[in-house]
Amino acid sequence: MQLSGNISKMHTHLNRGVAQYQLPIGDKLLSMNDLVGEEITLSFDQTIHCQNCGKQTNKSYSQGHCYPCSQKLASCDLCIMKPETCHYHLGTCREPQWGLDNCFSPHVIYLANSSGAKVGITRKRNIPSRWIDQGAINALPILEVDTRLKSGELEMALKQFVNDKTNWRQMLKNEVTSVDLLAIRDQLLSEIGNTIESTGAQTLDNEALEINYPVVEYPSKISSLNFDKTPTITGVLKGIKAQYLILESGVLNIRKFSGYNITITY
Ligand SMILES: [Zn+2]
Repeated sequence: MQLSGNISKMHTHLNRGVAQYQLPIGDKLLSMNDLVGEEITLSFDQTIHCQNCGKQTNKSYSQGHCYPCSQKLASCDLCIMKPETCHYHLGTCREPQWGLDNCFSPHVIYLANSSGAKVGITRKRNIPSRWIDQGAINALPILEVDTRLKSGELEMALKQFVNDKTNWRQMLKNEVTSVDLLAIRDQLLSEIGNTIESTGAQTLDNEALEINYPVVEYPSKISSLNFDKTPTITGVLKGIKAQYLILESGVLNIRKFSGYNITITY
């Protein structure tokens, strides 16, 4: 079988505790879980299309955009990576309506274990996809607020006590030890009482969620595959974790190649 078209970040959801992946390719959605254990070939035909305007671009900016769109879209602005720098109140949001729809909506502050305990934030409606995209094996929502800015303020407060980064090599090798997220939550919430009060955050009383990944064999060393250097990538698909395909020959970060025109043979 063969499918061709522009690819983008895999769609993810949970089914009975197992992460499910669908690769958007052209106008199709390919269920990737079904291909684990199979030999696949991905070929890049050297064309990239902007995910927003569809125009061809020589290089991909902000994960799949042409340069003008990367400068124009609110979703490509720095404040999306650093929510505490939300500048909507200054009247400088790149797309005020997008800002209202996306940043003035419920946001959740969570703890997750992807390569050790970390803190993160997400729009509430992106749960649990956000956690799957990061390769978390456990996740626990701890606080909810009504704007992205407040979630950024709480994350900044929590970052004094807990990591906010994933060591992606460790995550992909599955070198992850279990941690007691509930105990860490209780400790952390007692440290940031002032910020909880000033943001009006609601504390959440959830159990930690467990996420399993469709992986038959984790790699012992990590080498990154890249369509710009290797236009044809082939081998047995050993598994999928976060937004990575784990192949015999290395790991491929699908998200990084959003907008690339690919032919997949399986
Ligand atoms: Zn564009």
